[in-house]
Amino acid sequence: MEETKVVGGAWELSTFKFRVEGRGLKLMLENMKDKKLVGIKCPQCGMVYLPGPFYCRKCYIRIDDEVEVSDHGQIMTFTIGYADVRGNPLEEPRVAPVVKMDGCDSWIMGVLEGVKPEDVHVGMRVKVHWAEERTGSLQDMQYFVPE
Ligand SMILES: [Zn+2]
Repeated sequence: MEETKVVGGAWELSTFKFRVEGRGLKLMLENMKDKKLVGIKCPQCGMVYLPGPFYCRKCYIRIDDEVEVSDHGQIMTFTIGYADVRGNPLEEPRVAPVVKMDGCDSWIMGVLEGVKPEDVHVGMRVKVHWAEERTGSLQDMQYFVPE
């Protein structure tokens, strides 16, 4: 007879985890304490990733060259949310842009503040609003604001 295993704890089923391979995420988080975005560059094709993977997705070679990326960038696409992850209506619509930081080829997602949803557009220039006290977590980059 097989033993039944019990795993205790709360399970947030409406959230998910993602995994970034290699040291790229740790490198990015450590430098965010100093308001710096550090990615990884491919020496062969020049692609810059943030956070950096351990291999280039174009060349399929190992990459490890650190490169600083600007905390300014432009909106490549965006969504406007009217409900939270549980489906509860939000008091104000939330703009979630996907941003290409200057000096970087991959895109990152965040929240945009300080602008009405109807005024957001693809190509809009934005910059990171950093947390006052940074701890090396994704919350250090609180949100984007217009440049
Ligand atoms: Zn490459």
